[in-house]
Amino acid sequence: AIRGFVCVPIRARDRILGTLALGRQTDRRFADEELLLLACTADQIGLALDNARLYAESRQQLEDLRVAQQALVRAERLSAVGELAAGVAHEINNPLMIIQAQSYLLLESGVPEQIRGGLRTIDAATRRVAGIVRDLIVFAEPSPPQRSLCVLSDYVARVLALQDHHLRTDNIEVRTEIQHAPPVWADASQVHEVLFNLIRNARQAMASTKGCGVLTIRVAGTPGGVRVEVEDDGPGVSPENLPRLFTPFFTTRGPGEGRGLGLSVSYAMIGEHGGRLYCENRAEGGARFVVELPVGQPQRPAPRLE
Ligand code: ADP
Repeated sequence: AIRGFVCVPIRARDRILGTLALGRQTDRRFADEELLLLACTADQIGLALDNARLYAESRQQLEDLRVAQQALVRAERLSAVGELAAGVAHEINNPLMIIQAQSYLLLESGVPEQIRGGLRTIDAATRRVAGIVRDLIVFAEPSPPQRSLCVLSDYVARVLALQDHHLRTDNIEVRTEIQHAPPVWADASQVHEVLFNLIRNARQAMASTKGCGVLTIRVAGTPGGVRVEVEDDGPGVSPENLPRLFTPFFTTRGPGEGRGLGLSVSYAMIGEHGGRLYCENRAEGGARFVVELPVGQPQRPAPRLE
């Protein structure tokens, strides 16, 4: 049976992490040296525990740094691509407008039907190129958002209603989990476009691989804003494609099917709002796109100096 007992605290930086206890089966008092030894041992344990914690912390910091560096490199590359794209887009824009205007004038001038067919093809093709050029310019130089108060769950509902027919014909079951979230100060048409792109992509990913699927959309408030998740149970994104997803013209769709601009334009728009757009693969399979938007504040006019 234990007859004598001594207990010392294990400390690390003025915090008590635990205790070190020693029992003895005789009546003899603990000698001062023994107590000192125990206290020293407790100090050593405290130091070792603290070192282990510091080590774990610095590893985590290193990992955070690596992730931040990768994000920075990606953002730099995206902005370099953006500059290049904007240059090309502006160069293409002028001749394109001339082609469009000329084919329109010819169509209006009463040319024979044989030639009209060709002109209509030119018209359709130039419209398509004009759409690409517009997206590129938006990606490279997103116009400053025209902000108003937006309730994101309303936009989710609108986009779902707009794609309802496609979702049903593609056998996609839609689940929504809408929690209370504050309205955000954002550009309504850009919010709409981003949600539209994400939901369309999710639908296409599931329809093209499985012919059916479940689309889950969550809206929830965060400490500084709102978070929207668009989740599918399609094929997900392969690890080598994940870093390229938001680069203009990155597409895995066939020629004529995808322009690879939806995500890059969405990325630029959310960035312009001071928010974040990113993608992760779900453990259960499928992809999750996350939009985080800060609540934002109406700009107050600068105070006038009298
Ligand atoms: P596009 O749809 O024209 O290809 P996007 O920029 O919208 O252009 O998307 C780029 C690529 O990202 C797609 O081609 C596809 O490979 C991938 N992608 C986007 N959304 C998903 C998703 N939900 N699941 C899997 N892959 C996706």
